[in-house]
Amino acid sequence: MAAKIIDGVALSQTVRAAWRARARALEARGVRPVLAVVLTGEHPASRVYVRNKTNAAHELGLRSTVIELPESASEHELIDRVAALNGDPAVHGILLQLPLPKHLAARGVLEAIAPEKDVDGLHPYNLGLLTAGHPRFAPCTPAGIMQMLAAEGIDPWAKRAVIVGASTIVGKPMALLLLQQGATVTLCNSKTRDLGACTREAEILVAAVGKANLITADMVRPGAAVFDVGINRLPDGKLCGDVAFAAVREVAGWITPVPGGVGPMTVTMLLVNTIRAAEHALAHRDTERV
Ligand code: NAD
Repeated sequence: MAAKIIDGVALSQTVRAAWRARARALEARGVRPVLAVVLTGEHPASRVYVRNKTNAAHELGLRSTVIELPESASEHELIDRVAALNGDPAVHGILLQLPLPKHLAARGVLEAIAPEKDVDGLHPYNLGLLTAGHPRFAPCTPAGIMQMLAAEGIDPWAKRAVIVGASTIVGKPMALLLLQQGATVTLCNSKTRDLGACTREAEILVAAVGKANLITADMVRPGAAVFDVGINRLPDGKLCGDVAFAAVREVAGWITPVPGGVGPMTVTMLLVNTIRAAEHALAHRDTERV
């Protein structure tokens, strides 16, 4: 039997509807959550992603502001902008849109973001909390996949989970979140020998590499839940993930499509984190008044 397709658009709508009520509750107390996005340079895909994020924020009743910096911007300029956003009490979440232009290193700028406004969860303090087992803002893509697992009733407890791709944005935090929920986790990277032998063990398989058709049907354990994070553009202009979708669908138990799978949930978790940051700021303001 073909795998169940996990519809990230539909789940996003459900999750966003639940969080819309929390955004309204904040508004009733005079706080409208604000997401500030720092966009540097002329990366065309980044512009599309930023537009998707700001449109989704508006639909949920959040406000957003995009700070655009030229391709030639220096690290100092970015850090100054971030510092200004840190000091602005009207801003609750700050997102540094990646990748940055080649001459800039993301690390210094990410570290300049106030951890309580780091809604992408990439500040070392928030990554440390995640590693310690009590995450505040988990990076949005793995957080979205955890929501998908929960929505499908797939409990990671004692399951074999294999993640292909070990970036700080996706693979590593994904491993930590699954580990926290009791999975036995294998994290593969470009040096992994016999990738198929690893992936065939997986009851939960996450592919986050950026290589079309890297995961073929013979690499998938029958009945596995397969989450495809990859975004690749084919020569005909169409988007695809890292998983050979049609063939793997015949083997897996669940599978996410590209587009329409993990991507929309990533955006949703960014909005969720921004609302949580605004709730936290309001609670902090209330405590200061006491
Ligand atoms: P990255 O380039 O930072 O990391 C890629 C990882 O894959 C590295 O750890 C590398 O060692 C590993 N890798 C490379 N070749 C491999 C191979 N043959 N076998 C096993 N591992 C291999 O990438 P990233 O930022 O994590 O993004 C990965 C993909 O996910 C990209 O296509 C990106 O566009 C996409 N992405 C999608 C979303 C979303 O919301 N859907 C979010 C983030 C990233």
